[in-house]
Amino acid sequence: MKSATDLLITRTYKEIWARGEEYANSGRARIASSNEREVEAFVKGTELYEVHLKFSGGGISKKCNCPYSRDTSTRHAPCKHMIAVAILWDEIRGIKRPSKDEIEFDTIPPPLVTRSQYVSLFKNPLKADLELLRIAAEEIGSWSRPHSRLSNMPHFSNNEDEPLSTKEIGKAFREIGTWTNRKRYDYYFCAGEMVAAFCEVMRLVKKRLKVSSPMEAAKILREAQKFHYELVMELIDDSDGLHAFTEAHLEDIFNYIKRMPEAEDERVVLAKELKEFENHRNDY
Ligand SMILES: [Zn+2]
Repeated sequence: MKSATDLLITRTYKEIWARGEEYANSGRARIASSNEREVEAFVKGTELYEVHLKFSGGGISKKCNCPYSRDTSTRHAPCKHMIAVAILWDEIRGIKRPSKDEIEFDTIPPPLVTRSQYVSLFKNPLKADLELLRIAAEEIGSWSRPHSRLSNMPHFSNNEDEPLSTKEIGKAFREIGTWTNRKRYDYYFCAGEMVAAFCEVMRLVKKRLKVSSPMEAAKILREAQKFHYELVMELIDDSDGLHAFTEAHLEDIFNYIKRMPEAEDERVVLAKELKEFENHRNDY
């Protein structure tokens, strides 16, 4: 006999499974009609939801009108109402529900980065854990497709006593740009890694500007801004608004330069260069 729980368990998040089982135990689910092939049921959640499960081919088709099942990012995964119904439907047909061990090993573990961790990343982009950003950007929507793994950052010296040049930073950015030529580069799923690499470079830039003149620093900032534009507009799919991270790092350096002691004879040109940065802030 076909088991509905067997077919659903490997596609269900552990947390959802536990809640579905709880629903089944607490009498929230009521089977309206069932046979060997399909089941119609009502489950009382926030509202009364209608669940329909049906064996089809080697699998099972499933429907529920709850918000979780309608959400595009989660709709491929079974909801707790479906689980509650699957458990009861199986039991009517004499099939035991999965054991604790089976639930432990067969369900999908919780995502590595939780929704709230993801949200908190955006709250302080300058301090954001870039490793978390790399992982998070891959997991959004809890589905993915094969894509290449990128380096953490391009070749770029972290020697704080070494003055930085526009040439050196230009080279680092060009290297990031070439990553898009990799075989399985994915504009959406690699976006987090691209943005993280940019931020890594910017964090080092800030350290290395200590031995640069404000004028040189301002030119480097403009170079970074130009690449940033290309990054966001052409190199990644920024549907998730990752430019919040890159922009925060640009602004941080802008503010840093404004606080640098400037030479009298450079004041006018420097102001002009910084004005350029401000003029191009909202280019996209
Ligand atoms: Zn549901």
